[in-house]
Amino acid sequence: MHHLLRMIKMRFDALVIGGGITGLFTALDLSLRGFRVALVERGLIGGGTSGKMHNLIHSGARYVTNDIESATECASEGKVLRRIARPFIRDTGGLFVDVDGDDEFYGEFINGLKKTGIEYRELSREEALKIEPRLSESVVRAVWVPDGVVYPLSLMTSVAVAAHDNGAIIGQFLKLEAFELRSDKIERAVVRDMVKGELLRLEADVYVNTAGPWVGEVAEKAGVEVSVLPTAGAMVVLNGLLNNLVLNRLRPPSDGDIIVPFNGHSVIGTTASLVESIDELSFSDEEIQFLIEEASAMVPDVKRYGVKAVYGSVRPLIKMGGAGGREVSRKFEVYRHDKPANMVSAVGGKFSTGRLMGESIGNVVARMMGSSKESRTREYVLPELREPRDFADHNLPLIDEDAHFLTSLSSTSQGLASDNLWIYSLALISLMRLHRQKLMRLD
Ligand SMILES: Cc1cc2nc3c(=O)[nH]c(=O)nc-3n(C[C@H](O)[C@H](O)[C@H](O)COP(=O)(O)OP(=O)(O)OC[C@H]3O[C@@H](n4cnc5c(N)ncnc54)[C@H](O)[C@@H]3O)c2cc1C
Repeated sequence: MHHLLRMIKMRFDALVIGGGITGLFTALDLSLRGFRVALVERGLIGGGTSGKMHNLIHSGARYVTNDIESATECASEGKVLRRIARPFIRDTGGLFVDVDGDDEFYGEFINGLKKTGIEYRELSREEALKIEPRLSESVVRAVWVPDGVVYPLSLMTSVAVAAHDNGAIIGQFLKLEAFELRSDKIERAVVRDMVKGELLRLEADVYVNTAGPWVGEVAEKAGVEVSVLPTAGAMVVLNGLLNNLVLNRLRPPSDGDIIVPFNGHSVIGTTASLVESIDELSFSDEEIQFLIEEASAMVPDVKRYGVKAVYGSVRPLIKMGGAGGREVSRKFEVYRHDKPANMVSAVGGKFSTGRLMGESIGNVVARMMGSSKESRTREYVLPELREPRDFADHNLPLIDEDAHFLTSLSSTSQGLASDNLWIYSLALISLMRLHRQKLMRLD
């Protein structure tokens, strides 16, 4: 085994572990501040929670009654993302629909919207039906808010390309296996090249743990404990599109209360159940039926459309004393560890606030490196991708195609010197783009 452990000659300022929305925006943030950055992702970019979520850019309205801080963060980040990531967001708008019996919550909800300054419009039943004709007869009124839909894999690819353009190395199929520690610091990371099977050693000044729900697992390898509340959620993709706007049930956040229009399909979500194993998710027929039942209170036709697929992922929520998956705040924390003194871990957040998380991590790392350079991601307009966004994000065929993709990846990387991670990461990104184009023809 030892002869396979190769040292990468380059030394980095920061090594980011995990290529979800948080890690990618961290890599972009740090590279724009002039740091030499490498990111290692054990699979494909977005292969964790960020590529398998509900695809909603929150207006913040969902959290106005129970989590004001998250609501405010989502509201302001929504505006930033629409400026820097315009091609990847659809401004569908969202409706919070008041189904007969939900009325108690209405006043509290409107007060929360006023307090957080989120734009809204109260609609009568007739006005709501004009923009969303399939709403149930039990809907008595609705509130319009600026919810949107995001194409997460396209957006993440664009952040990866932007980080790469600014000098970051974005390596896919590179899994952090271990840290080599000396006194109270990490000296090196040992990373497995999942395509060739060999182990590589990477050196950096700071190690950033953005492994999402796996953040505890990665921290453990450095001998530190980071507690995460792994909360799984299921989403049901229907055989067709029933809604034009993001539909939310006007009640405190609960299971099965959102229907997102995405890529020609309505996607119902979601659930929140604590799980033991993050890597082996399964959802029962009862859970799926429950989601359909709940969503049908807003749109009865949901029951007439068959289920095309079910997918799910795990929220990396902050562990808070006594609180379960639904009560836990969606805000995030960035920890600078005492030991090892050159490690930072990030927990919590939302896809919608991933850029802000990257900025906060960037601030901590910049301080550690003695730099006063400010974050630039708030203004940095992300590159457009060539392929049409509507086809780039189909979660389902992506999974079917993985085997073929790995084969082509493997044969391409055989021809490259793997020390030369610059080329390697470039090849991976362009292969990923090709892969997405293949999906276009599939659909
Ligand atoms: C069911 C569900 C629905 C959601 N819907 C929404 C929504 O509609 N809108 C919204 O804003 N938010 C939503 N969220 C929340 C949001 O998806 C997450 O907060 C966010 O995507 C987390 O991003 P991340 O980068 O922190 O984690 P991840 O995306 O999980 O990224 C972590 C990465 O680390 C990698 N990794 C792990 N271990 C290693 C290792 N040893 N070496 C290298 N790499 C490693 C993983 O492969 C993974 O890609 C939802 C969450 C769930 C669970």
